[in-house]
Amino acid sequence: MHTLFISDLHLSADRPRINQQFFDFIEYIAPQAEALYILGDLFEYWAGDDDLADSRNASVADAFRLLNGKGVAVYLMHGNRDLLIGQTFAQRCGARLIPDPTPLGLYGTRTLVMHGDTLCTDDTEYQKFRAYARNPDNQAQFLAQPLEARRQQMLGMRAQSEQNKQTKSEEIMDVTPATVEQVLREHGYPRLIHGHTHRPARHLHVVDGHDCERWVLNDWYQRGGYLRCDASGCRLFNL
Ligand code: MN
Repeated sequence: MHTLFISDLHLSADRPRINQQFFDFIEYIAPQAEALYILGDLFEYWAGDDDLADSRNASVADAFRLLNGKGVAVYLMHGNRDLLIGQTFAQRCGARLIPDPTPLGLYGTRTLVMHGDTLCTDDTEYQKFRAYARNPDNQAQFLAQPLEARRQQMLGMRAQSEQNKQTKSEEIMDVTPATVEQVLREHGYPRLIHGHTHRPARHLHVVDGHDCERWVLNDWYQRGGYLRCDASGCRLFNL
């Protein structure tokens, strides 16, 4: 028995090779797992669940649905790119939307899963934007616009964010160590799994005398990857 974790696929029409890797992963690797967690940023951006009218988006949902039909539990968490994913999309996927963070008792090891952007507390500018984008009134206002207008706005925001990144230091965009420790402490240790930073690794932290591990998931920009966990531990794999 094992469970798989992926994040930061950033699926978009611009990367057909990665899209194919995604479908191959869902068809050949994921069915052996008992559960698959997508820890945010499945899509490059998500303008609203009515974007399921796009056949590429629908085919992603249908792949999850087929996987779920094979007996694999599928869990979806929002990232910062796709926080507007709603129940309509989740239901089409046969997936359950889970909050960020979510605590798991993963084969006997207390494990907290999260997207990871809440760990980047040094990036105050981003955290301000995050609070704005997660505000239900702001979301409702955004979703009231026509789909095409939403798409264009999101593409504009993407371009702006890429530009901002050029001027931010590597440290600011990575997790803040004190925040990692605080999160591990609050949730009772010893394991944390997250994505977002695109720096796949296993980090060891000693927090209040507890040996903790933090797994950072792969992004799927150049190639796909996943984390596989079972009772003996976790391991990162590239596709
Ligand atoms: Mn992210």
